[in-house]
Amino acid sequence: RLKEGRALAEDVWSIYNVANLPADCINLGQGYMNFAPPKWVTEAANEALQGIAQNHYSHPKGRVRLRQAIKNHYGPQFNRDLDIESEFSSPAAPTKTGDEVIMFEPFFDQYLPSVTFNGGKPVYKPTSNEWTIDLAELRRAITSRTKMIIVNTPHNPVGKVFTRAELEGIAALAEEFNLIVMSDEVYDCLTFDGKEHVRIANLPGMWDRTVTVGSAGKAFAATGWRVGWLIGPPSIIRPTLAATTRIVFCTNSPLQEAAAAGLEQAEQRGYFATQRAEYTARRAILTEAFDKLGLTYTLPEGSYFILLDISNVKFPEDYPFPASVLGRGRDFKACWFIALEIGVSSIPVSEFYCEEHANIGEAYARFAFCKDTDTLQKAAERLQKLK
Ligand code: GLN
Repeated sequence: RLKEGRALAEDVWSIYNVANLPADCINLGQGYMNFAPPKWVTEAANEALQGIAQNHYSHPKGRVRLRQAIKNHYGPQFNRDLDIESEFSSPAAPTKTGDEVIMFEPFFDQYLPSVTFNGGKPVYKPTSNEWTIDLAELRRAITSRTKMIIVNTPHNPVGKVFTRAELEGIAALAEEFNLIVMSDEVYDCLTFDGKEHVRIANLPGMWDRTVTVGSAGKAFAATGWRVGWLIGPPSIIRPTLAATTRIVFCTNSPLQEAAAAGLEQAEQRGYFATQRAEYTARRAILTEAFDKLGLTYTLPEGSYFILLDISNVKFPEDYPFPASVLGRGRDFKACWFIALEIGVSSIPVSEFYCEEHANIGEAYARFAFCKDTDTLQKAAERLQKLK
């Protein structure tokens, strides 16, 4: 079933959705915040809703104010005078039938349908036990049909921030074999312990072959807004823009205005620095809880996810699991059991692997720490029952 139609099977987010779990279960599953976006951003949204033009279609490229804000915010980060005519679109893989797209496992599950719905063929490369990439293996995975490599830094679900050396290795192969790189950097504002976020688009020779993905949802605690952007050269943006125009025409207008206000004011308000400090404290609540339990976990350098090794967490095989969980790996069952019996939901990590490598992911549950400290404390207490 999964082989034929993984992209059409029920997705992990729907299975572990709060709608399917007891109301008092603490939700550390799907990565969204249980706190409001900053007031100055929601006020901009309210203001936009009072307008007229702001409630109607935008240009498919995005509203001028948002494109201008993206140019001002990101231009210096890419060391480039970004052309606001060609920036905004939605992240869809520009693949044709038969094109191969290389993704490193674990990969954010939504990349898979983006590739297969367009007739592309995903090629999977698992990362090592230390979550590193083997460049020799990557080279071997490249064929005459390879079109693109997907990079994700800071990484969901591992929390890894790729080093410059790692990105240089990938970039060299992309250049040698004339490949596009889609660099998903939606957690770019969430790095910890002074870890540097390196943009692969900025490495020599990479601008013309890289499309970088950004997100207002992650930056401003507003994941339901569905406002994001692509930054890259016209050769990649143009076909993606054409697809966006035919799928949704444009993303919602008033919230683009609010995202623009967010980018316009973030720096002056010291918003991203404060946010990083807050997330560092949130991360510590979970890592301390896991330390106390004596379980191993990944210490995220970025993003807001922690992978907990659940291979020794026991649960009764005959537990009344729902059908959506029964046919899946051990981690699906463990996560269901932990949600119902311990009262904390998480996401099974085998979903981020292809079927052949799913056993690697089965060892982990992903916990999101984009929650207020009270909620995380309460979750930390409940998780002690895993002992
Ligand atoms: N990015 C979010 C996460 O990893 C979920 C996005 C989605 O629902 N598909 O939790």
